[in-house]
This record gives sequence, structure tokens and C-alpha cells, in this order.
Amino acid sequence: MRPEAIPGTLNHGCMHTRSTPKEKYRFIPGDAVPSITSLRAIPQKIEELSRELEELSGFPEEKFIWIIRDVGFSCTCCGRCCTREFNGHVFLLDDDVERCLRVDAGALIPAPDFELCDQHGNFYVSGYALRCRENGDCIFLEDKRCRIYAQRFRICRVYPYMLHREWGEDGMHDWRQIAGLNEHGEYHAHLSEEECRCIADETTSYERDFLEKEIAFYTFCLAFFKQNNLRPVRKVYDQQMREFERGEAVTVYVFDRGALKRHRVRRQEY
Ligand code: SF4
Ligand code: SF4
Repeated sequence: MRPEAIPGTLNHGCMHTRSTPKEKYRFIPGDAVPSITSLRAIPQKIEELSRELEELSGFPEEKFIWIIRDVGFSCTCCGRCCTREFNGHVFLLDDDVERCLRVDAGALIPAPDFELCDQHGNFYVSGYALRCRENGDCIFLEDKRCRIYAQRFRICRVYPYMLHREWGEDGMHDWRQIAGLNEHGEYHAHLSEEECRCIADETTSYERDFLEKEIAFYTFCLAFFKQNNLRPVRKVYDQQMREFERGEAVTVYVFDRGALKRHRVRRQEY
């Protein structure tokens, strides 16, 4: 049995629409579609994410390790996964943000694909991402090499491994384990049992922390919206996105380590 191939042309939104780990962290301009358009949809979203988390915990570790060994992926250090050619944006977990603040605080930007927009036109997003250069390369990429390699972020460490479910061609949910299979890197390398176990652990831990962050974000926003008489409005979301695309500054609240941080951002910064 082989894991299913995932197109290397990465193009995604957030969790339920993402196709690969780094894809989730990447932004295709104008691609953001809000999945939450009413207050009552937030508990449903939390439930959906909680189910994902439960499914993730139930995935047999030995099977994942077997797949990793069977594929034998080997990175050729081409650097393409750090560019927009291959991915959209790098989404950061809480410990990544702390690392980034130590390395270069200016590299942080509210992640695109804003999840919510209230009736006053403020966006809400579940975390920070890394800034890109104008050509779409990650700000830390230099001469096809990561200049902070030893301190790179969680997703940079696990890519192209992943462990989450997506809709298959047959309309059924299926697990994906390797991003862009056969579109980058080399295969059939010998990986020791210890290496495979280590990759499986790191990837599962990444996916779990990602889901927990998303759940915490929606749980926080639900309480925040209720306390402040706010509600997500699709029409306002669309209007604000048009403003944003026109280059106007918009307000984005970023969920960062248990609190919302306010930012003003413009499309040009992405
Ligand atoms: S931080 Fe380094 S490894 Fe991660 S996307 Fe940027 S250049 Fe690539
Ligand atoms: S081979 Fe894949 S994982 Fe390695 S640098 Fe290239 S795109 Fe990234």
C-alpha cells in the first residue's frame, strides 16, 4: 500500500480545505473563503475540529511509520517548498512565534485566509505567518538556503510529511501522509526505524498542536463575540476582502498564545 499522491501545486485555505502541511501555511491571493458566516456555525466548527483531533489520535502509529519507510523520501534541498512556486505561506504555531520573536520579530505577519469577520469589518485569524519577499520567497530564504535552518519552524521541520484527512476523488475522507508525492525530492532511500519513528512523532505532534490551536481560536472567538455582541457576517467579510484587495488597510485580530492581538495590514504586505 502506498500513500496517495497530492498535487505539488499547492493551493489551499485553512484546515478543512488544506491539502498539504505547508500548503495550509501558504496563501494564494484572493483565495480566502470564510467557512464561518454565523455565530452558531462556530460550535459546529469546534466540533468538526475536535472530531479531526480524535481521528488523528486514533491513527495507528505503526502504519504511519511503515508508510514513511516504504516511501523513503529524501530531500534534495531544492528550496522550492520555501517559495510561492510551491507553497503559499508558512503558518506559525505558538512556540514558532516565540522563536520568530527571538530571530526577527519583523518577519511576523497576520496569517492570510482570515477565518472570521465581524459586523464592523474586523477580521480574526488563528495565528501568524512568515512574511514573504515580493517574489513570494520566504523572508528567510537566501540563495535557495534557509538562513535560520537550525531554528526553522515546526512545519519547516516536518514538511513534506503530514497526517490529516482530505476528501478523496471518490467523495470519501482519506488520510494523506506525504505532500507533493513524486513532485519533489527523491524516493526509496533507506530510513532507519528510529528515523521513521522520529518523523512520525514530530508530524503527529505538529498536526495535533495545529488542531488544538484552531480549536482554542474558535473557542476564544465564540466567547469574545458573545461578550461583545459581535457576529460573523459574510457580506461584510466579502466587502472587507474587496477593500483589502484594492490595497486599503484592514484590521486583523490575531489569536496569539491565548489572546487577540490587533494589527492593521495591507494587501501589499503579502
Ligand atoms: S523558515 Fe527556512 S525552511 Fe522555513 S520556509 Fe522559510 S526558508 Fe524555508
Ligand atoms: S525536495 Fe521537497 S522538501 Fe526538499 S527542499 Fe525541495 S521541495 Fe522542499
